[in-house]
Amino acid sequence: MVEVSSRELLLEQEKILKRAVDLLGYDENVYEALRYPERVIQVKIPVRMRDGKVKVFIGWRSEHNSALGPYKGGIRFHPATTMEEVIALSMMMTWKNALAGLPYGGGKGGVRVDPHALTPYELEQLSRGFIRGIYKYIGVDKDIPAPDVYTNPQIMAWMMDEYYRITGENQFGMITGKPKILGGMETRIIATGFGTAVSAREVAKLLWGGIEGKTVAVQGYGNAGYYAAKFLHEMGAIVVAVSDSRGGIYNSKGLDPDEVKKVKSEKGSVIYYEKAEKKITNEQLLELDVDVLVPAAIENVITKENMERIKAKVIAEAANGPVTAEADVYLSLQKKVIIIPDILANAGGVIMSHIEWMNNRMGGFITEEQARTMLENKMVQNTHAVWEFWHKELDPAKHTMRDAAYALAVKRVVEAMKLRGLL
Ligand code: NAD
Repeated sequence: MVEVSSRELLLEQEKILKRAVDLLGYDENVYEALRYPERVIQVKIPVRMRDGKVKVFIGWRSEHNSALGPYKGGIRFHPATTMEEVIALSMMMTWKNALAGLPYGGGKGGVRVDPHALTPYELEQLSRGFIRGIYKYIGVDKDIPAPDVYTNPQIMAWMMDEYYRITGENQFGMITGKPKILGGMETRIIATGFGTAVSAREVAKLLWGGIEGKTVAVQGYGNAGYYAAKFLHEMGAIVVAVSDSRGGIYNSKGLDPDEVKKVKSEKGSVIYYEKAEKKITNEQLLELDVDVLVPAAIENVITKENMERIKAKVIAEAANGPVTAEADVYLSLQKKVIIIPDILANAGGVIMSHIEWMNNRMGGFITEEQARTMLENKMVQNTHAVWEFWHKELDPAKHTMRDAAYALAVKRVVEAMKLRGLL
């Protein structure tokens, strides 16, 4: 794995944007108009700690683009978070939301903190303090945060409550990823992995007529990886290998994802599952001769070091950025591997956030079952929209599916900006 600094992350996002702008034949002006966030708010958050001393934390909310609607994107609490990282991620959210066909622009927030070093009371004060810093800029029709790395439904509940205390508006739709009793959806937990499974199934239909009987390997067995494995198994695929940070397991006849999950929950890792034929390393898992590979752990696991040994026919990116730009081009164009890009394959979470937001605004009567159907329909639609754009507007021999996804997203944002008179 290659570590990427937040500066590199931002430069990478700018490069992706430039490529999409060039592909669409837009001029430099369009690139400049999309390159910078509309607003970045920096917040100083003083928290009185358990020893009685006040400690200051710094956080940011980057609002990248609002042409398609209110800004939307998570808030992360992480010791390495920087302003540049938050800006880069907010730009990524603009494309992800546009591609998902949601009425949202892109935003992202972050606080530079190690949340595991805080007591629950300190964490609550930090969460409330961040909202005190940004409350003027957020709201149900302005900017709607959600959980991200090391933030969770409880933190969303504190944030929503703080917003109410300051503004007097008890707005459930001002934040998503809330606990069920405060307007959240339980389906949120399966959303990303289920969405990845649906996008892989749709591509399998286009390539082979269906996913049934196709072999699958999944790297990472957390929220995204486990649910991707579970639903691909339910759809009739054969999950031959899974892994987590401790290593992987392989069974040519297929593994039962729920049984493996039980073992991981009880013993700490998938490697203790006894019905596997053999143990494998994460490197071996990535190089298996399978129909579908789902990297669902961390970024940059398929790089120029191992790209020549990759044998999967389809790669569905549940993780963010698991395939480097160089490997993406090589695998897509030389080896004709179909790589379903992260902004498409892992958009299930934000699509479910939109369903939660709609439900909150309607006063709440969307059932969990309806939410799941809506999510599935949206993932089907979006996968086919990218596929069609790729084949009709671009040339799959020269351009990757990622190119198509970004170009389609940028095109939608530019269209909205032109209609608003911003371009
Ligand atoms: P998680 O913490 O629930 O699970 C991560 C899994 O990856 C764990 O099983 C862990 O053991 C494994 N892992 C960690 N390091 C590894 C390594 N070096 N090699 C192999 N396995 C390793 O996280 P998650 O929520 O499932 O997120 C996974 C990825 O999906 C991340 O890139 C995340 O950004 C992306 N993602 C998740 C969501 C979501 O809603 N959960 C949404 C969009 C994108």
